[in-house]
Amino acid sequence: MKITKEQNRLDIDPKIYALYLQARRDAAEIFARIEEIALFNQQKVLRAFTDNGVSEYHLHGSTGYGLNDPGREALEKIYCDIFKCEKSIVRANFVSGTHAIGVVFYALLKFGDNLISITGKPYDTLNTVINSKDTENSLVNTGVSYKEIDLTPDGSFDKEKIKNQINEKTKMIFIQRSCGYSWRKSNSIAEIEDISKFIKTIKKDAIIFVDNCYGELVEEKEPNEVGADICAGSLIKNLGAGIAPCGGYITGREELVKLCAQRFTVPHIEDKLGATLGINRLFYQGLFMAPSVVAGAVKASIIASYVFEKLGFPVKPKFNEPRTDLICAVKVGSREFLQKFCQSIQNNSPVDAKAVLKPHLQPGYTNPIIMASGSFTQGSSIELSADGPVCEPYAAYLQGGLSYEHATLAILKTAQLFK
Ligand SMILES: *Cc1c(COP(=O)(O)O)cnc(C)c1O
Repeated sequence: MKITKEQNRLDIDPKIYALYLQARRDAAEIFARIEEIALFNQQKVLRAFTDNGVSEYHLHGSTGYGLNDPGREALEKIYCDIFKCEKSIVRANFVSGTHAIGVVFYALLKFGDNLISITGKPYDTLNTVINSKDTENSLVNTGVSYKEIDLTPDGSFDKEKIKNQINEKTKMIFIQRSCGYSWRKSNSIAEIEDISKFIKTIKKDAIIFVDNCYGELVEEKEPNEVGADICAGSLIKNLGAGIAPCGGYITGREELVKLCAQRFTVPHIEDKLGATLGINRLFYQGLFMAPSVVAGAVKASIIASYVFEKLGFPVKPKFNEPRTDLICAVKVGSREFLQKFCQSIQNNSPVDAKAVLKPHLQPGYTNPIIMASGSFTQGSSIELSADGPVCEPYAAYLQGGLSYEHATLAILKTAQLFK
């Protein structure tokens, strides 16, 4: 397709711009579907706000112990409505998603219990929490036995192995919905529903725990609605919409979340305390914006899949495969290309655009990670970000974007370096 100057006012290489227009055409129906999902999820969020009577005074914060903080309490009810669960903890005091997920493990698993991950090796930082021999308080060092079952080559749950591995000690089944830094398919809500039913037929009381990072509001249901007993995630991803400046959440069955609250604080305090300072307004506003921001990020991710595949790189998922998270993984194939890809995303970010990226060994990660995050909130990955471990297969994991427009521009400007 020939592009005239008038059609392309973006200083983007004509070949790349043509690919963009082609992507918009080929993905038109997919985009329409994403807009439907966003509309549905916006209604769900709005209804949760109105049903819980959100009022100006909820937006203010408490100090000190934070006893009887109406804003915090209503927000946790709103999360219950959105996730269709009995109880939630939504707090700034979760220092990260890993912390929220870790609290679930430590609260629910005791000496002698068995934990099985059915999505293979977990995300680096979680793998350290669970399975590090030289981290004193890792789960395996505190007497929890641990098994890992890889997904099948086509990315499905390995039912046969799961059935064989579950035993009377198996207390928890862990599902990581999003791929993390693994070159694999992310697992959809439908797949989580199917496998949850299957697991309950084998062991009725096994706790199904879903790491929901990057998955929130991408589909019309959350894991709690389809059989997960408990979920956790980060607020500097989907649900914070770039407005929440920190935090994490846990959602699930009352008795389980209560145990988590006892571990998050101390047993008798549970979730009754926790000063919110000035953060309630940002948590509310972020949640309110989340359906729209998530939809924009999913669309941009589809543009990335389309364009980079056309440029000859393996991508996951492909542009027309169903989305259950924000991630587009691009197998760039070499250290140099990974550096170049991430550096370009950094150069096209609103903050620290001129920063020169260097791979860095971060706490909890096994390989040096290169990370582009020119974000308003440090490390926020609902904002446009690209990162990956500097090792085989040299894949860049791209996600986020506060707006579809920004993410798309940065993706196209990065693509033109690889044309
Ligand atoms: C982001 C993420 C986490 C948590 O990471 P934090 O940086 O600790 O918030 C956990 N699991 C997956 C799959 C993730 O993408």
